[in-house]
Amino acid sequence: RASAEKFEFQAEVSRLMDILINSLYSNKDIFLRELISNASDALDKIRFLALTDKEVLGEGDNTKLEIQIKLDKEKKILFIRDRGVGMTKEDLRKNLGTIAKSGTSAFVEKMQTSGDLNLIGQFGVGFYSVYLVADYVEVISKHNDDKQYVWESKADGAFAISEDTWNEPLGRGTEIRLHLRDEAGEYLDELKLKELVKKYSEFINFPINLWASKEVEKEVPADEDESIDEEDTSESSSSEEEGEEEDEKKPKTKTVKETTYEWELLNDMKAIWLRSPKEVTDEEYNKFYHSLAKDFSEDKPMAWSHFNAEGDVEFKAVLFIPPKAPHDLYESYYNTKQSNLKLYVRRVFISDEFNELLPKYLNFLMGLVDSDTLPLNVSREMLQQHSSLKTIKKKLIRKALDMIRKLAEEDPDETNDKEKRDVEESSEENEKKGQYAKFWNEFGKSIKLGIIEDATNRNRLAKLLRFETTKSDGKLTSLDQYISRMKSSQKDIFYITGASKEQLEKSPFLERLNKKDYEVILFTDPVDEYLMQYLMDYEDKKFQNVSKEGLKLKDSKTKELKESFKGLTKWWKTTLASDNVEDVKISNRLADTPCVVVTSKYGWSAYMEKIMHSQTL
Ligand code: ADP
Ligand code: MG
Repeated sequence: RASAEKFEFQAEVSRLMDILINSLYSNKDIFLRELISNASDALDKIRFLALTDKEVLGEGDNTKLEIQIKLDKEKKILFIRDRGVGMTKEDLRKNLGTIAKSGTSAFVEKMQTSGDLNLIGQFGVGFYSVYLVADYVEVISKHNDDKQYVWESKADGAFAISEDTWNEPLGRGTEIRLHLRDEAGEYLDELKLKELVKKYSEFINFPINLWASKEVEKEVPADEDESIDEEDTSESSSSEEEGEEEDEKKPKTKTVKETTYEWELLNDMKAIWLRSPKEVTDEEYNKFYHSLAKDFSEDKPMAWSHFNAEGDVEFKAVLFIPPKAPHDLYESYYNTKQSNLKLYVRRVFISDEFNELLPKYLNFLMGLVDSDTLPLNVSREMLQQHSSLKTIKKKLIRKALDMIRKLAEEDPDETNDKEKRDVEESSEENEKKGQYAKFWNEFGKSIKLGIIEDATNRNRLAKLLRFETTKSDGKLTSLDQYISRMKSSQKDIFYITGASKEQLEKSPFLERLNKKDYEVILFTDPVDEYLMQYLMDYEDKKFQNVSKEGLKLKDSKTKELKESFKGLTKWWKTTLASDNVEDVKISNRLADTPCVVVTSKYGWSAYMEKIMHSQTL
């Protein structure tokens, strides 16, 4: 086309498309739910804009917030259309080709190793999955602020955008035309499409309609079997029939099959969160999770919490703990990572970028909040400052921590009761065996970050903490379990920090404690150093770093030894200049090693010095 402007795909996008085009991945179905999900996002956007400005919806068919799917079997084209917000020319250029999202390269990398294409939506590049099934794609779009444009590409490194002067005007929204490859013929089958929408898109909040064929039986005059169409429009047919009435030998009419088309609604727009938790099945929660998370693997969420908050601020919420941590959960922790909660106000989607709903450390949760108390007709900025949000946040944190606590309580591995721990194989509890360790593996760091950041809930979070100790035998244990095993003579909770368990187990700081049979927590995660600067005590017990000053072990001989070695300690202290050591003391922390350098109570531990040093380099 002469008017077409040509563009090159950004390099990472181009690589992604190559991978998709050449993919042998068998589950190509995913493209449909990605397109429906995009259509639904675009509809959410226009509905949100319409809250403050009704004009944006326009009139007539434009006000119908729906998704339409159509087929052209002969030309092998699949059409998916929405009446969403649409894209301007600039949007088309940026969103579909030239600006790579942060997830693009992460996804490409993943695909090159062991990737599951199924996760494409989570990386923010779902649109390109169209090239799993099509070799030529057109995107026709009309945004309120611009003319109608056509974006098109054969995935050959380039795309073109032209002002649309030949297609029918869309009014508003987007139509995607997939020119299907020969081997993707199955997507021209209505039954297949119905099945896919049912499977993947049942929680979409807008009607999804399929232009579906229907075989109808029709009575036509017996002698006129040439053309049904002609018969249909024939004005004179009734008078003819009347005339034939006298002829009794000939049958008057006969039945023929005819194909007609009509819109068929494929989804029932379930809002699970509005129903009573008692009525929703586990299966439904699982499916709902997958649609929220854009994760269509078989993995089930680890847990969920569905509740109805009443009082000054009313809202309904569903929170999920995903089966796995998202790829960038901690990478970008202090910069970009945002909450995965969707905020609705009276069933209208408002935003999934509201960071006011959950503290950062709970960003790994997926879910949804729908509030009746928040106002509908105000801007996002106004809403962000609404006082109800604080109440919602407080309740959400409580419920989230409860949900995590329960995960531990229900886990037979977590109890000291041996009988309970050895539950029979195949019993229902067996399924819950080890679930907390799994949670800890994926999200333990979030709990630690919570202890650092959330002073109000510090104790609750500390209860969720797990670690190995000198006596835990390679298993995880909790502070409560540690305390239950403390010796009667022991006042403090002992811990040590270092780079690895192996290294720590050789530490001279542990010699004496081991000999005296004290249990010591082994902290080997770099974040543990920071953690222990915030976690001072737990259940009235103080934490004592065994490599720091202040370790007190009961020993009657210490006083005598101090006296008799006074001369030596004094000599040491003067010999080692005072800016090298603060003090020289007789210690009772060692067993075999003759002496050790200890950090002062309020100073950094040796390991922390190391961490800080490596960070400033
Ligand atoms: P994501 O949906 O995660 O943002 P996609 O690759 O699926 O990533 O889509 C890229 C972008 O293209 C979207 O963010 C959106 O801006 C735009 N887009 C895609 N489909 C539509 C549509 N039907 N209507 C409006 N915009 C769309
Ligand atoms: Mg998408």
